[in-house]
Amino acid sequence: MESVDVAVIGAGLAGLTCAQQLRQAGYQVIVLEKSRGLGGRAATRRLLDTCADHGLRYLDEQGNRSQEFIDRLLSAGVITRWTEVAHTLNTSGQIRADATPSPRYIAPAGMSAIAKELAIDLDVRRNQRVGSIFPTRQGWKFTIEAEQTIAAPVVARSLVVAIPAPQALALLEPIADSEAFADFEELEELKEMQLKLRSVQFDPCITAIAVYPAARLADLQAVVWKALTLESDPILKWIGLDSSKRPNATQPVLVLHSTAAFAEQIFDAPDLRAIGQQILDRAAQRLMPWFNAAELLQVHRWRYAFVRQFLTESCLISRVPLPIVCCGEWCGGQQVETALASGAAAAVQIETMLNKN
Ligand SMILES: Cc1cc2nc3c(=O)[nH]c(=O)nc-3n(C[C@H](O)[C@H](O)[C@H](O)COP(=O)(O)OP(=O)(O)OC[C@H]3O[C@@H](n4cnc5c(N)ncnc54)[C@H](O)[C@@H]3O)c2cc1C
Repeated sequence: MESVDVAVIGAGLAGLTCAQQLRQAGYQVIVLEKSRGLGGRAATRRLLDTCADHGLRYLDEQGNRSQEFIDRLLSAGVITRWTEVAHTLNTSGQIRADATPSPRYIAPAGMSAIAKELAIDLDVRRNQRVGSIFPTRQGWKFTIEAEQTIAAPVVARSLVVAIPAPQALALLEPIADSEAFADFEELEELKEMQLKLRSVQFDPCITAIAVYPAARLADLQAVVWKALTLESDPILKWIGLDSSKRPNATQPVLVLHSTAAFAEQIFDAPDLRAIGQQILDRAAQRLMPWFNAAELLQVHRWRYAFVRQFLTESCLISRVPLPIVCCGEWCGGQQVETALASGAAAAVQIETMLNKN
């Protein structure tokens, strides 16, 4: 059984920030990630000879953390400036440039490249969906859900849960409610954590990626926007001209985000492609008729896309039965800024707890 100081569940921006800070402080850290890729919602889908960002659209300066992150990624050559001006389509069909320009940065190789930069020298174990966590005398242990649920051959002195709050709650509930720990008076801390996790709420989003024939590139010359928000539309919330992020794009690619209300209505509908087509039909109605005729259409469902009800704490901690910290962008309301800040705060808390033990 491998023994480590810290296990981090989730290789999103929060988990990777936390893990990197602890690794650099000299702790032995592993990251367990359910997907094949890194970055969580900073996600990129590989297409035939290109890619598209179906999660995080771009980086912008939301505060100190994101500003530092942008500077670092610019120096490393991972990101580049995409656009200064975002546009809005109003209900009467007019497209207007937003009044205050502000730079937006993207990774030409896809936004997941920013996670790869955070993960340098980290021990990230992919395809490891943690199904349960349980405290033992030796430390935290885990089960991994694959075709069969198996016990992970690892034991950790402390645990960081860097996943959306409802998913963290599902992992924590069995411990907080377990008879085995009824004797721990301080289990109150864990129960408090559970209560807080329960109060967090997310909005879902359906993302459609549409690739159009190369001949349509010429039609895009009339398009003034790269990032377009739709005002009060029942179906569509945002459209990005994703191919404008790629050097030498040979085909137009759009990424379209649904509204939360639309996603909620149809979230579990079995025919994802039909939902994607509904999104494209709406884009054709509101913008250009050919937007409904994609050569390739892919659709992704984000159950936990954007935090609606967040916490004000920078992370949640409990020392009992063993050190555990939960973090993520739901600890504050500012997306990437908060994910980075919360991951860093979680690392500080883990260091404090480990140094006391
Ligand atoms: C469509 C979309 C567009 C967005 N656009 C923007 C934008 O333009 N600007 C902006 O600032 N923010 C944007 N965001 C939000 C931003 O992406 C998130 O705030 C940020 O990436 C959250 O990072 P995180 O590390 O907290 O969580 P996540 O990215 O959700 O990371 C959690 C990780 O944990 C993994 N995981 C979950 N459960 C388990 C388990 N049981 N075992 C192992 N691993 C597990 C997941 O696979 C994931 O990798 C967007 C989000 C979406 C969905």
